[in-house]
Amino acid sequence: AGRWSLDGMTALVTGGTRGIGNAVVEELAALGATVYTCSRKESELNDCLKKWEGLGYRVSGSVSDLSVREQREDLIQKVSSTFCGKLNILINNVGSNIRKHTIDYSEEDYSFIMNTNFESAFHISQLAHPLLKASGKGSIVFISSVAGVVAIGSGTIYAATKAALNQITKNLACEWAKDNIRVNSVSPWYIKTSLVDQLLENQNFIEGVLSRTPLNRVGEPEEVSSLVAFLCLPSASYITAQIISVDGGMTVNGFY
Ligand code: NDP
Repeated sequence: AGRWSLDGMTALVTGGTRGIGNAVVEELAALGATVYTCSRKESELNDCLKKWEGLGYRVSGSVSDLSVREQREDLIQKVSSTFCGKLNILINNVGSNIRKHTIDYSEEDYSFIMNTNFESAFHISQLAHPLLKASGKGSIVFISSVAGVVAIGSGTIYAATKAALNQITKNLACEWAKDNIRVNSVSPWYIKTSLVDQLLENQNFIEGVLSRTPLNRVGEPEEVSSLVAFLCLPSASYITAQIISVDGGMTVNGFY
């Protein structure tokens, strides 16, 4: 395979049925990777798998709720048997949010956001490590957020989970470099997906977002998946431990 191809590589993308994960599945598959994905809704997953088959992409998948430990173990079992114990690419994309003022968060809110965003990605990385190592050439990308880089009004628990992902990016990159596994993080600002659809319909909200965004617009999922794919290519072989924002310029200049 060439420097700009993922031919012969295998990938796991968590949460591939909508939004950023969906764009990442298609980008990796178009570059030649064989992809495995998952989500909680069976019919939506089957629709996606059918669509991808029609496009000639090599994608398989199964239903799992990655906020649940046993389902994470089960997922990695399936990935391991599908790809004969080897995996080149792990994209930790699953994430969700509950927006509240800090003092309004319940115990359940806390567990839900922590499990879905941080513990799931941490545990999937632990479980996938032997497979990534066995492939001889591994790459992990965490889908974090600019909320884990600067303070935005997205809710403190969400922000903490994303900052934690940005930190373990550095730790895992150092710890697993000897296994030839690179680890990077991609941190988007507002991207048009089902996660933020309703928020972006609010005129006041969108004006506030655009006033902080030099490019004066929100992003598209494909504008994130292109960077994610690049980080997995042989061309990116010297890039590890980095946190890269895809944010229309927002993070360098909150008031430009
Ligand atoms: P969406 O909600 O549009 O898509 C999320 C995908 O993940 C869906 O396929 C969903 O399917 C799946 N998913 C969600 N929870 C679980 C779960 N517990 N187990 C398995 N699958 C799950 O979100 P986005 O594409 O917007 O977000 C993707 C990532 O990008 C998240 O980590 C988010 O924090 C991050 N991000 C998004 C930004 C944005 O503006 N959109 C900005 C910055 C970061 P299903 O519901 O069927 O399970």
